[in-house]
Amino acid sequence: MKETAYDTIVLGGGISGLVAAYSHQKKGKKVLLLEASDKLGGVIETIIKEGYRLEQGPNSILTNAELQQLMEELGIAPKIRKNESIASTRYLLFKDMPLKMKPDWTFFKSGFLTPSMVWAFLTELFRKKSTLKEESIASFIRRRLNADILNRMINPLVTGIYAGDPEKLSLRATFKKLYAMEQDYGSLVGAMFKRDKNAHKREAMSFDKGLITLIDALGATLNHVKLNTVVTAVKSLNEGFNISYNSNGKTADFVGKEIVSTLPAPIFSNICSFLEPDLAKEIAAIEYAPMMLLYLAYPTGAVGQALDGFGYLNAQQENQPYLGGIWTSAIFPEVAKKGTHLFTLFVGGVHNKAILTKPKEAIIKAKLAFEKHMNISSETTFQHHYVVEKAIPQFNLGYYKLMEKVDAVEKSYPGFQISGNWRTGVAIGDCVAGNL
Ligand SMILES: Cc1cc2nc3c(=O)[nH]c(=O)nc-3n(C[C@H](O)[C@H](O)[C@H](O)COP(=O)(O)OP(=O)(O)OC[C@H]3O[C@@H](n4cnc5c(N)ncnc54)[C@H](O)[C@@H]3O)c2cc1C
Repeated sequence: MKETAYDTIVLGGGISGLVAAYSHQKKGKKVLLLEASDKLGGVIETIIKEGYRLEQGPNSILTNAELQQLMEELGIAPKIRKNESIASTRYLLFKDMPLKMKPDWTFFKSGFLTPSMVWAFLTELFRKKSTLKEESIASFIRRRLNADILNRMINPLVTGIYAGDPEKLSLRATFKKLYAMEQDYGSLVGAMFKRDKNAHKREAMSFDKGLITLIDALGATLNHVKLNTVVTAVKSLNEGFNISYNSNGKTADFVGKEIVSTLPAPIFSNICSFLEPDLAKEIAAIEYAPMMLLYLAYPTGAVGQALDGFGYLNAQQENQPYLGGIWTSAIFPEVAKKGTHLFTLFVGGVHNKAILTKPKEAIIKAKLAFEKHMNISSETTFQHHYVVEKAIPQFNLGYYKLMEKVDAVEKSYPGFQISGNWRTGVAIGDCVAGNL
């Protein structure tokens, strides 16, 4: 049975789908959003457990101009919480200790920066520009700088965003700005001197009640939302598109003039009936990094490490059983119970998929290492974990070409927009900018 026709049907109620639905509705269209689960937000979810406020997905957002404007339109700008001096102070694990990335005496004394790294920065300006269309992050950094900079500085950065492998990730599909800096200015150092001083300053932020504030505010603007509705097929009609779905055991169809899919790649490839089989296979094969979020709280007096920063990331060469830890309550003190510090550890990524099969072992190892690195002398007052099996899509080599093929599908089917974080970029700011 066909139900009422809509101008736009948005598939998926994560941040991408919510922003797409908001944006189309703002243009005066009749919009319907379909979401498989019983809640909006996708991987963004704030929960309260035993007096601790936990983010069971992203912890904070790096703002951009589009997000800033959206928050103002939604009236939630006054609810923003940030802690600039803490959030902008970053650490990396070095020789089993968090090392502050600040050019002071402790930093220079640590041996983190080798003479070859300094020389690579000083001479980067004089290296030849590449004509390669696609290259891995690792190859690009080795070519323009050197292997130590890749291993010590870039590898943890890649971990922090993609939980991925810089040898496999495509520079052009991930760090587009670095690619453009070389193409436009011939050098990274040169581009930094010429960068726009008036550009939007990106800051890590959340809201008074956590990231759910953004989801709730977007959801409240939408006129037609159907939860518990699993989209099972998308077909192209002579005019518009037919969406089949299953809701509480019943199957039915909607018709829409335009469709915006924000479904994860493997689900999208499975339900979109008019994709070429080879392309569907390629999309289904996009790798996703799994991630475990491990929340640990300790009495304030039991933590030996000074908590004057955002937290730290671990380079792969440090060979640790976790990827890094955010000092959550140092940034947002209201998330922890009084008298305790709350931390969020990231465990997993493309190099540690064992978290899916042996989570208990992974937790024990990560906790032990973290307590040593943070000089912690007491048992936890609270512990919880949450696993996201397909957390972060990996934009590996070949991604740029694959996205060109997906662009071509959009062109052949006017009114069909293929979005979601695997199209726009994984950061929440990218999901917002790509769907407004
Ligand atoms: C653990 C973790 C930590 C992260 N940390 C950060 C961070 O600190 N900062 C940051 O900027 N970004 C972070 N990210 C990335 C960012 O959160 C995500 O890229 C972004 O939220 C994805 O939004 P989305 O709407 O594209 O996809 P999703 O949130 O995955 O939404 C897709 C939606 O589609 C629905 N769906 C699936 N199948 C169907 C179907 N058949 N029918 C209908 N609906 C369906 C799903 O239920 C879901 O609600 C993190 C991600 C994870 C997983």
